[in-house]
Amino acid sequence: MDYDYLIVGSGLFGATFAHLASKAGKRCLVIEKRAQLGGNVYCEKIEGINVHKYGAHIFHTSNRMIWDFVNGIVPFNRYTNSPIADFKGERYNLPFNMNTFNQMWGVRTPAEAKAKIEEQKAKALSDMVGQGIVEPQNLEQQALLLVGHDIYEKLIKEYTEKQWGRSCQDLPAFIIKRLPVRFVYDNNYFNDLYQGIPIGGYNKLIEGLLDGVKCVTGTDYFTSEYKDWRRFAGKLVYSGPIDEFYDFRFGRLDWRSVTFKTRVEDTANFQGNAVVNYTSHEQPYTRVIEHKHFEMFGPDVYKCRKTVVSEEYSTEFKAGMEPFYTINDDRNMELYARYKALADNETDVFFGGRLAEYKYYDMAPVIERAMEIWRDLQ
Ligand SMILES: Cc1cc2nc3c(=O)[nH]c(=O)nc-3n(C[C@H](O)[C@H](O)[C@H](O)COP(=O)(O)OP(=O)(O)OC[C@H]3O[C@@H](n4cnc5c(N)ncnc54)[C@H](O)[C@@H]3O)c2cc1C
Repeated sequence: MDYDYLIVGSGLFGATFAHLASKAGKRCLVIEKRAQLGGNVYCEKIEGINVHKYGAHIFHTSNRMIWDFVNGIVPFNRYTNSPIADFKGERYNLPFNMNTFNQMWGVRTPAEAKAKIEEQKAKALSDMVGQGIVEPQNLEQQALLLVGHDIYEKLIKEYTEKQWGRSCQDLPAFIIKRLPVRFVYDNNYFNDLYQGIPIGGYNKLIEGLLDGVKCVTGTDYFTSEYKDWRRFAGKLVYSGPIDEFYDFRFGRLDWRSVTFKTRVEDTANFQGNAVVNYTSHEQPYTRVIEHKHFEMFGPDVYKCRKTVVSEEYSTEFKAGMEPFYTINDDRNMELYARYKALADNETDVFFGGRLAEYKYYDMAPVIERAMEIWRDLQ
């Protein structure tokens, strides 16, 4: 047996696990079915710009230990996520804060903004009570109760419908539990203590994590010799889809996917911000990402004469697409529980990451999860 661990998948989960195990002197082999390492944080260089090939990724955490860990691999820059929303040409700051309320209603003080929102929430409540509705029956009613008519109509309704491919009246209320509103002029999207992008891009983080680890790309676990993993390693760490591991024996888990249309624009600065959300049906895409703004600031934006933009289209998952977002309805949660019961009974096989745990993980928590699994193995 050549290895202590055979690790399937080179995303942040697999790469972090491999890093920790190999630092502790364990022999690791990482196999990756894509042509390159890094999973969904992989970036492709186009016109000297790191293009987030599988969707825009902004690292954020309040966990000092995780922040120090990733910065120990590669220092992070000071990128602060502050998206803009475009509704039929009207521009609003996100997340919902005093700038948004000023742009929407011309209000200037927190008291004026609160009064406006409360007035609209009260109207939504009285409309529902008038119709004999006690509990919100769908996402639309839930959102109206949380933020009122104007914010819902301009910034939530059509964007959510594009994301889910369904009317908000047909979506369950539980999808939106909270809609945070801030009564300060603060466009920083995340509340976390730390955020940024690795200087030089995410590939540097992955290269650093996997430094010295043997990796094989373009190799699908299921169709390769490694499926007979006990011939190669003492333990298997698996970060691919859990239903596929069990040959879909109970059925397939559902996903939402996102497709990207990426193009080079012959201008240094196309939209002046990394992220612009399009919140009406006028555009079929949900967001436009201008990748250079994640890593180039001030005059550096203009030193690079071109720019790369990606339109994001939220779509139903079909074979051959990337599984991106889990669908946490009863069918899928019950199905996952059946697969998890099988996984829990495995000896020497460890499941982790967004595909194997059928769970939406941000990057920092997925790193933490890999650390936890490694710690439990000691
Ligand atoms: C559109 C989008 C935007 C996101 N933005 C953010 C963000 O801004 N901030 C944030 O913190 N998080 C963000 N995330 C979450 C982030 O992508 C995840 O936390 C992270 O990718 C999880 O890492 P992972 O290793 O579990 O999965 P992945 O990165 O998907 O890695 C799994 C790897 O396993 C490989 N694999 C699967 N099956 C096999 C097989 N049979 N054989 C060999 N290899 C296999 C895959 O090819 C893949 O490379 C975003 C996610 C999406 C979908």
